[in-house]
Amino acid sequence: MTQLESIYARLPVWFQDAAVTAQGALYHRQRYGSAFREEYGLLKGTELATSLQLELLQTARLKRILAHAAGTVPFYRTRIARSHHESLRAGDLAAFREIPVTEKAELRLSPQQFCMNGGRDQTWIPWHTSGTTGSPMTLYYERKAVARQYAYVERYREQAGVSRRERRAQFTGKLIVASEKSSRYWRYDWANRALLLSTVHLTKDTIPAYLSALRSFQPTYLCGYPSAISLLARQALRSRMGGLKIQAILTSAETLLDEQRDVMEAAFGAKVYDQYGQTEMQSFWFECRYRRMHTHPLFGLTEILRPNGEACQPGEIGDVVLTGLINYAMPLIRYRVGDRAAWSDEDRCPCGRSMPMIQQIEGRREDYVYSPERGWVGRMDPALKGVDGLLECQFLQEENGTLRVLYVPLPGFGAIERSRLEENLKGRLGSKMPLCFEEVSAIPRGANGKFQAVRSKLSFNPDLHPKLMEVA
Ligand SMILES: [Zn+2]
Repeated sequence: MTQLESIYARLPVWFQDAAVTAQGALYHRQRYGSAFREEYGLLKGTELATSLQLELLQTARLKRILAHAAGTVPFYRTRIARSHHESLRAGDLAAFREIPVTEKAELRLSPQQFCMNGGRDQTWIPWHTSGTTGSPMTLYYERKAVARQYAYVERYREQAGVSRRERRAQFTGKLIVASEKSSRYWRYDWANRALLLSTVHLTKDTIPAYLSALRSFQPTYLCGYPSAISLLARQALRSRMGGLKIQAILTSAETLLDEQRDVMEAAFGAKVYDQYGQTEMQSFWFECRYRRMHTHPLFGLTEILRPNGEACQPGEIGDVVLTGLINYAMPLIRYRVGDRAAWSDEDRCPCGRSMPMIQQIEGRREDYVYSPERGWVGRMDPALKGVDGLLECQFLQEENGTLRVLYVPLPGFGAIERSRLEENLKGRLGSKMPLCFEEVSAIPRGANGKFQAVRSKLSFNPDLHPKLMEVA
């Protein structure tokens, strides 16, 4: 805990609301200034632009950020060869694809090397990541980049039928509820008309309190971690809770599972719009009302690559490699972000946008489970299909290959449901998969209060043939 955080923790709850509101007012100023308006205008004007028009705009941004990186960022001064530099200036994208991929480990090793001029500028906004693998790091954003980013967020909200001016309930992993004594697990940011709810304190016992907070706040939309919103949704459905008029549910930061989407839409009577981005500010992908995931070409350039570096075909899952186009403080060129996805084979969306579409986000490399019969299997949520009475479930693969299934049952979860879960798992992972079921009262959250549906202690390697690796 920093000094500021410990002061905050000792404040009375109402004073904490005031502190959260003051912070919210600061965020509001950072986000919605002239750089926001400029980018917002561009986005609105190019929403329905053709692929060619978008490509031209993207290439212009790409050339600018490459020249900037090669000229001022220590890591890329050596990484981008002089010959490359010249061809890139001429707009040769083949030369761009020859720049070696930047790995996450390289960034972690020396973040300073990725900063413009090799150091921090006082006007930049620092962001301290907790690091899912336990190695915290500070990222820097230009003020303008933060404002630009919010132009994308605002357009995404608007196409879902809401905006920054409406009341929102946001589920957050931030430490807003510092004192354990209080049973009020939410704070008010009146500057942004937002109810901030802590995901860290969300358990079977506290769900009813969260639901009544939502009822009295009456948000127009919900946003945040799908794991948290779907937990409430499950309970709201069971208790047939009404009294909310939600227009949209905006999820982000975790892999959205089909089952979570279904339960949220059923409970709150609103559509779910998923969004994908990362703290490194490299891409902005968003779902439109036709449930297609579009990658915004002006925010970042997306590549999906095979292990040998070739581009994947539509429908083929590969590593997501991103080049951010809006943050000049810490540009990352061809950055392997650690997620896996596939391009869609559709070339037009009924929504009219020509922005490239993603068919599937497989999740992070850590989300894979290794099965002795099937090899690496991503997305475990289909195993939960048709299993009633589960509040939450987490799959944890041990070094010896055993898959521990931690589950939080609701009243009524019995032997039939458990054997259905087991059958589903065997259907997905094969009958030789060593399984071990453990009933728990809550599933601990990871970094930033995020829920991880799958955790594996084995290191993912898509090249490895299933037969070559002995587990169990
Ligand atoms: Zn669309």
